[in-house]
Formats: sequence, structure tokens, C-alpha cells
Amino acid sequence: MSSPVWHPFTQHGLGEPIPLVSHAEGAALYTGDGRRFIDAISSWWVTTHGHGNPRIAAAIADQAARLDQIVFAGWTHEPAEALARALVEMLPAPLAHVFFSDSGSTSVEVALKMALGFWAHRGEGRHRILVMEHSYHGDTIGAMSVGARGVFNRPYAPLLFDVGTIPYPAAGREQATLDALEAACAASPAPAAFIVEPLILGAGGMLVYPPRILAEMRAVCARHGVLFIADEVMTGWGRTGTFTACEQAGVVPDIMCLSKGLTGGVIPLAVTLATPAIFDAHFSEDRGRMFFHSSSYTANPIACAAANANIAIWHDEPVLERIADLGARQQARLERIAALPAVRSPRRLGTIAAFDIADGEGSYLSAIAPRLMAFCRDRSILLRPLGNTVYVMPPYCIDDADLDAVYAALTAFVEDGAA
Ligand code: PLP
Repeated sequence: MSSPVWHPFTQHGLGEPIPLVSHAEGAALYTGDGRRFIDAISSWWVTTHGHGNPRIAAAIADQAARLDQIVFAGWTHEPAEALARALVEMLPAPLAHVFFSDSGSTSVEVALKMALGFWAHRGEGRHRILVMEHSYHGDTIGAMSVGARGVFNRPYAPLLFDVGTIPYPAAGREQATLDALEAACAASPAPAAFIVEPLILGAGGMLVYPPRILAEMRAVCARHGVLFIADEVMTGWGRTGTFTACEQAGVVPDIMCLSKGLTGGVIPLAVTLATPAIFDAHFSEDRGRMFFHSSSYTANPIACAAANANIAIWHDEPVLERIADLGARQQARLERIAALPAVRSPRRLGTIAAFDIADGEGSYLSAIAPRLMAFCRDRSILLRPLGNTVYVMPPYCIDDADLDAVYAALTAFVEDGAA
């Protein structure tokens, strides 16, 4: 009998095999039929320290037995309080207020609502959002609205709200981005906020840009009083080599979104951090000005306990050293594969290595993606190219043998399969 499960980003009509994973450890996934797969994409960019981390697993078990769930409107619990305190300590001032949600997309929805609420409560009807070309911020309606339009969201286009799009700062065209942002910020009516993926646009094709441009974009927004939202959902928790990507540019946003690696990639949780100015705009004795957003599981205690265990790992273990080491090991392998004639634009930021395969077509539906995915699956590797863009984003604990196996498969594909 076929499964009733409807999978995300999966065309069931193609009848491709769907491996059934029974357990995981470190950078390895084990399937019911006894195979061992290398998780080369950190299970959709979430797994940081590795699967089955014993400290996070123990924290979850302990918390589940103690307090599993409690409404978070008007109630609180120590795992959430401790987590909020720790995040405020780890992130730069003035990011002093922590709002919980449960996915990257919802953290973005919250960020947008905070920004619009800020302006509404100040009596300024600013509601236009500026975005960067090729961005991806999630799959809910608001998050799709601030993301690139295309195959991901074409059927829903009539529902998506209008935004101002700033060109991606491709090498040599950075000034055009800054000029466009300057003009958009100065336009009337004034925009409410600019949302960006700092230093690297993930789903848009692992497109990188320099910290200097991030800093200059932040400065343009500050000059015009336009709120700056950093979506660190993918980039946070060390992915780009530092705890956050903003850190590399010395940028402090007005609003920051974190998810994925917040719990070490073990259980869903997200936070949206905001400055006192944004919190204070909602602070009043008027109940009509409270922040109207929640979900049933807001700040679930078990998820918060997992995040606290993750933060303890960051404090006690040499996580940044592991990240730097993985970056160097990725770089060495990327340089070797970059020598192949079909490889274009090799690039690396922290633990993320990416390149494009020349195919004359750059779209997400490029025929290369399903072929490469199947090629890797046959070699016991989990990899999901973005069109003709290949990226390797493994858990920080991956060893040399597994990394070599991933690059050997990619080399074989580029040399033979892409032909
Ligand atoms: N923002 C960015 C930058 C992302 O990369 C993603 C997911 O990949 C999201 C938001 C959405 O996160 P989620 O899939 O947890 O909703």
C-alpha cells in the first residue's frame, strides 16, 4: 500500500524512492534496510553538533518528565526564562527582548509584524517592506511575500503582498545595491523595514556577499530610520564561521530571527529578538497595543530545554574551533573540485561550501538537481542541490572520511554525470 504521507518539496508523481530513516548519529543517518547515509546537508541546515547529541537528548528527556507544555500567554517557565537571558547575553545590545515561535518562517512573520506594529503604534502608517533579490525567508504567506517570486510560490502569487526589491550585491555591482537601497529608503511613503539574509542567500543559491556591504546596507537603513531585520535562520549558530553572520560585519539589527541550530537542530523552536524601541512601542496599559501573535506551542519547555543544552555546549565545548576546522577542511576539498572544467563560482562561507555546475540553465528545476540527488542517494549520501547549485553543509562533527566520500561522489558526478 502506498504511504498516506504527503512530503514537502517532493513531487510524488515522479515515484522517486523515499528512504525510511530509523536512527541517526553524528553525521550519519541509518535506514531501515541497514544502510548508512552521510548527512551532507545537516538535515536541511539544522543539525549543528551532530545527530543524537547526548547532552541535548538528556535535557529533552529530563524536561519532558518535569514540565511538558504550558500556555505562554501570561505564564512562564524557567527553561524559557533561562534561554532568553542566555540569548540576550550572547547577542549584542540592544537586542534585549526575545519572542518565541516555532520555525524559521514564523520567526520571520513575527519580525514583520513587530516592524509594522512598531510603526502603527507610533502613529506612522509605514508598511512597505524592502527585500533583497533572490531571498528566501520561508513558506508561510508573509515569509513568501518577502522572498523571491518564482517556482516556489507562483500559484500563491495573487495573495502575496507587494514589496520593494533591492538587487543582490553581485561582485562588481555592490554600489548599485547600495544606491537602490538608498533610493528606496528615501522614497515616499517611507518603508517600514528591510529584511536580509546576512552574508549568504541560502535557498536563492548560496549566493555570498561581503560583510562590508552588509554593514553599509545597515548604515543606509539607520540613516533613514528604516528598521533592519536580519534573518539569521540559516546563518546563525556558527554556520558562517561566527556565531551570527552579522557579527562579521559588526552589524546589530533592530530585529533578528534565529531558528534551525537554536536547539542544535533537534526540535523545532525559533526566536525573534528585538530592541527596546520596538518592545516599548507595544508597551502600554492599553490592551489593544499588545503584540498579537502566538501559537499553541510558543516557547514549549521541552524545546527550550533543548536550546539551553545547546547553549551549554557552546559555552563548554570548542564549537568555534570545530567550525573553523570544518571550514578549512571544506576549503581544501572545494579547491580540488574547483579545478574541474564544469565547476563554476566555487565559494565558501564558514562551514558552507558551494559551486555551480555549468548547464546553461540556472533555475531551481534544472535537470541536474534530481540527477545529482539520485546519484548521491545511490552512493549513500544525502544531498539536495538547488537547481545547478551544489552545496555541502554538513554537521560540524563530520569526519574526513565522510567528507571525502561526499566530494568523491561530487567529483564523479561532475566528471561523468554532468556530461
Ligand atoms: N529564513 C531562512 C534564511 C531560511 O533559510 C529558512 C529555511 O531554510 C527559513 C527562513 C524558513 O525556516 P523554516 O523552514 O524553519 O520555516
